[in-house]
Amino acid sequence: MVETKFSTVLELAKKILSEYDLCDNCLGRLFSKQLHLKSNKLLGKKIHNKLKIKNNKCHICKNIFDIIPSYVIKMQEASSEYIFKSFLVGTMLKSSFLDRDDHIRSQFKLKGIDGIKTSITKELGKQFARKTKKRQKIYEPEIVLTVDFKTESCESHSKSLHLFGRYTKCTRDVPQKQKPCSNCLGKGCVTCKRHGISEFDSVEGMICKYIFEKFGAVQAKITWIGGEDTSSLVLGNGRPFFVKLLNPKKRSHKLPKLITSDKIKIHSLKIIPNIPSGPIQFKSKTRLLISAENPITHQNLAMLDSLNNTSVAIYDKSGKRTEKKIYSIRYLQNSEKSFTLELKIDGGVPLKHFVSGDDIFPNISELLTNRCKLEQFDFDSVIIH
Ligand SMILES: [Zn+2]
Ligand SMILES: [Zn+2]
Repeated sequence: MVETKFSTVLELAKKILSEYDLCDNCLGRLFSKQLHLKSNKLLGKKIHNKLKIKNNKCHICKNIFDIIPSYVIKMQEASSEYIFKSFLVGTMLKSSFLDRDDHIRSQFKLKGIDGIKTSITKELGKQFARKTKKRQKIYEPEIVLTVDFKTESCESHSKSLHLFGRYTKCTRDVPQKQKPCSNCLGKGCVTCKRHGISEFDSVEGMICKYIFEKFGAVQAKITWIGGEDTSSLVLGNGRPFFVKLLNPKKRSHKLPKLITSDKIKIHSLKIIPNIPSGPIQFKSKTRLLISAENPITHQNLAMLDSLNNTSVAIYDKSGKRTEKKIYSIRYLQNSEKSFTLELKIDGGVPLKHFVSGDDIFPNISELLTNRCKLEQFDFDSVIIH
């Protein structure tokens, strides 16, 4: 069966080779699928031999397959710092290669065959896998190697790693977020060593510093479950956060249950498969220290009882209304003009506005008919639904 087909293949191959010089790989590629053969090169060689035609310089690929081993070395160099099990290769090729390939394929009506780019990519992958004993994987490989024949270079990029953890903060002098590097505004430059941040003195900075060192990465994106002030304490089981770690060199690590940094503690940091998409609903238990413009009485404060198990409406700049729930409220007068408020409340309520009364109803200032100000607020727990 194959033999009869092979004679037709030989006929067409002869016609093609009378016009174009092709290498074993490119020649074999034109017929290997219809003959159900795996190796383009062996088939090309067989056809060349049968027809007694020698290949000199391939019209399509200019003998690119001869230099594949030198590119495999470039791939090994580009990936030498990474610890990985699976990979995928991407190839960038001068368009003239593709044009010549397309031209021959259409001239001889060759359908359903690999293109030159696919063929080169497969060969790179095959040889790299053989040399490194790593596995090729099309879906979610751990690293992607991009071989660029135009610049004769190779770059590696690893799949992002996702982490989840919680942090607690027991001092009143640590901002939650890090200001971006002033030189690049967060993009990453030489000054900030590609981090996008040049200092590491915030919660964000301290988390990043730890995971950058641990996983050999330079950039991360943190998703916070709620926010706080520099002066806020975060106590209890801490505030949850998600990290998307870009281009990590290492992927697996035993992480300690508790990581104690300068001023924060990171609890139960772990690798997770994915960061949940969309907004994450949560509740906070928070303690607010509030000052009032005029003296307050206990009867005054009792007005706040009406906030128990109720909803507040928040209006944004465009006038859009969202509702958030208050689950419980407790208050304690500290002095003539100050009191502490303990709230269990839905996440996403701007607490300063809730106290002063800007665009939130009901609110503290309005209920007490006394102009109030949020002096400080701490978190006792943050609960994800
Ligand atoms: Zn060729
Ligand atoms: Zn920078």
